[in-house]
Amino acid sequence: MKILVTGGAGYIGSHCTRMLLDQGHDVVVIDNLSTGYRQAVDPRATMYELDIKNQKEVSRVLTTEHIEAVIHFAAYSLVGESMSDPIKYYDNNVYGTMCLLEAMIDANVKRIVFSSTAAVYGEHETMPITEAYEECPTNTYGATKLAMEEMMKWADIAHGVKYIALRYFNVAGAHRSGEIGEAHNPETHLIPLILQVPNGKRDFISIFGDDYDTPDGTCIRDYIDIEDLIDAHVLALDHLVNNNRSDYFNLGSGAGYSVKEMIEAARRVTNHPIPAKIGPRRAGDPARLIASSDKIIRELGWKRNYDTVESIIASAWTFHRNHREGYADE
Ligand code: UDP
Repeated sequence: MKILVTGGAGYIGSHCTRMLLDQGHDVVVIDNLSTGYRQAVDPRATMYELDIKNQKEVSRVLTTEHIEAVIHFAAYSLVGESMSDPIKYYDNNVYGTMCLLEAMIDANVKRIVFSSTAAVYGEHETMPITEAYEECPTNTYGATKLAMEEMMKWADIAHGVKYIALRYFNVAGAHRSGEIGEAHNPETHLIPLILQVPNGKRDFISIFGDDYDTPDGTCIRDYIDIEDLIDAHVLALDHLVNNNRSDYFNLGSGAGYSVKEMIEAARRVTNHPIPAKIGPRRAGDPARLIASSDKIIRELGWKRNYDTVESIIASAWTFHRNHREGYADE
């Protein structure tokens, strides 16, 4: 199949591009390189440096490249920034998706797999979170992703654009080749920050609060391996082709790990003492987020190949050891 990957130069988009190519698909990437890296894009893909808001050009690419389906990653994803600059998030995420959908309707491309987030659920008491839980985002980032899902729902009803939204929990790890991985600037995510310590780039890792109502007092998250996550996108595409039905699914591991447990696991993987210091809570962090992925396991036959946090951290470690400065090393 010929697939357009938006945001293909970003962390998740670059892994998707590579894995689709490895499976024999043709891939066209569009990315405005605002947060992504050209070096992360597999050279076998056709790359357009293009903003999804440039509807006319996107429509032209969809038509001239004979695109059959879109996988949509292009979005801003920093929760903190989304709270201080909400309009930036509505503009890029919601308006950007609006332009993309219009271009798709224009070019008669009727399938889209879309990266959504656990942040659409907001805070809930009882874990694990299933798709039946109410969507109640507590930050702008989650609100924009929910708005994008809603837009797709109505575009389906009016124009027959079929979509699958995948609601990610904490995506982590790197491609097992060690060639691509998670490189954000600035970095805000736990695993890359922990690994900066054995990499000699920071002296200790800060633990954002140890007074949560959890067994060791630190926040619990559900970490899902990047390669397992991309497998789900391929299944979602197959599902759209075979069943032509829109849907949405959670994507997580079903298991929760605390910040302290993640640091312990990283110490085992790297053989480094990784000093940690307790700091204040980070605003807006829920104590526990654990997914139920039963729906995608049951309905799409998704299964995980990497089910230990050690395996996820080890893959990230291989990437970060080889790319101490991220893609600036290349
Ligand atoms: N965290 C931490 N120290 C850091 C970065 C993150 O203690 O330097 C915690 C954060 O408070 C959260 C967990 O690690 O409980 C995962 O954070 P991350 O930003 O990776 O993902 P999020 O769950 O916010 O999407």
